[in-house]
Amino acid sequence: MTSHQAVPHARRRWWPSGRWTLRELPAGAVVFVLAAEAVAVGAVVAGVLAAPVPDGADLLLAALLTVVAGAHTELSRNAERIAETRFVNMTSVWTFSAALLLPAPVATAVVLAVYTHLFLRVSHPAGTPVHRHLFSTTTVVLAVHAVAVVSLLVPAGPATSVREAVVVLVALPVYACVNTLLVVSVLRLTRPGSRFLPLLLGGEILLELATLSLGGLVAVIIAHTSPWLVLLAVLPLAVLEQTTLVRQLETQVDTDAKTGLLNPAAWRWRGRRLLERCRRTDRAAAVLILDLDHFKGVNDRYGHLAGDDVLQAVAGVLTAEIRDHDLAGRFGGEEFVVALGGLRPDDVVFGRAREVAERIRRSVAALDVPTSTAGRISGLSVSVGVAASPDHGDDLDTLLAAADAALYEAKHAGRNQVRVRHSEPAPQGEPAAPPFGLSCGT
Ligand code: GH3
Ligand code: MG
Ligand code: MG
Repeated sequence: MTSHQAVPHARRRWWPSGRWTLRELPAGAVVFVLAAEAVAVGAVVAGVLAAPVPDGADLLLAALLTVVAGAHTELSRNAERIAETRFVNMTSVWTFSAALLLPAPVATAVVLAVYTHLFLRVSHPAGTPVHRHLFSTTTVVLAVHAVAVVSLLVPAGPATSVREAVVVLVALPVYACVNTLLVVSVLRLTRPGSRFLPLLLGGEILLELATLSLGGLVAVIIAHTSPWLVLLAVLPLAVLEQTTLVRQLETQVDTDAKTGLLNPAAWRWRGRRLLERCRRTDRAAAVLILDLDHFKGVNDRYGHLAGDDVLQAVAGVLTAEIRDHDLAGRFGGEEFVVALGGLRPDDVVFGRAREVAERIRRSVAALDVPTSTAGRISGLSVSVGVAASPDHGDDLDTLLAAADAALYEAKHAGRNQVRVRHSEPAPQGEPAAPPFGLSCGT
């Protein structure tokens, strides 16, 4: 999977669907979500019992941060709508500074107010279900309490300014870690095959750290000058948010909206670069073309929406079965392409490419796809044509043509099999027999 594919531009990339219900989640994820929420409630209760009664200045500051965060949300609503699956929420500028400046219960009240507003104005209109938003809120509440713990643990030193600096510099990574680890853990439990490291190491984590750094600066300004100077941060923040959208939009331009895979133009462009890299480093590459068998039958029998769910499931198989630097794309309809790079250029290169193709074929045959409109669909199959460099050529179009010819052979030999160009192995897998081995469960 490339870093591109790790970017969650389409909803299904990082939650199972935009509208999952708790019941749809794997049991492990449900337990994790509920446990995190229980710990957050426990932390809030403990904080309320332990903290002194807030004074008027705290309440005034909390109100100011809430109002400013509300204005920020309103200013950036458009950005949030476009980047609805981005997991960095820039309101953490305000929640982090609240965590640094206010007792934990008051900072929690700010978080709850900010997140209620976010839900009403952004998440709900975007179709995000309540419990998903609740989990995001939970991660922030826990992060705020982690900051309170940091602040308790850093001892008073001879110079207050040094202590303050230490608290901010330690609290920042702690806040980021709590937030990020919770989100990533639930994602891993929800979509075990997904890889999130490229996403974390990419721009998202930098954006999170940049946002929190601004939050730290806002807290220091408030502590040492006038709280009203926070207003100076609102406009720069909104502008920064707009500019981060450019990267998000670039990703969307490269992506097939239905499956989250690369679209043909982006796949070709990256495929050429991959081949060039292989040539430079004396490595071989392989191209796979995959075409679902009798897919028209799926549409005819279950409808196009269920057919789309199948396409998404097949895309999930491709992503799970290839490595980070390989490329998976959708060429259109029910036709997919994969480029495998960095293969050792020995005489078993075809064998290894065939192995990957076989793994994909078997995983597609084992799919049991839950659809929103037609129950479960299984009994799917795919035919795969394989070509590899340098034997079949070393430019992309030649390899594609060779793989396409092999796919044609696979279809003619009975479908549900892998064919390597110009090799004549015994057909693998069972021929897909009409009515196409489809079965509808509940
Ligand atoms: P074969 O085994 O020969 O490949 O048979 P097939 O039915 O898969 O092949 P054909 O090319 O005749 O049909 C492809 C079908 O894919 C026809 C079209 O309705 C369907 N299709 C193309 N794009 C989409 C899409 O985005 N969503 C859905 N649900 N169906 C699509
Ligand atoms: Mg086709
Ligand atoms: Mg087909």
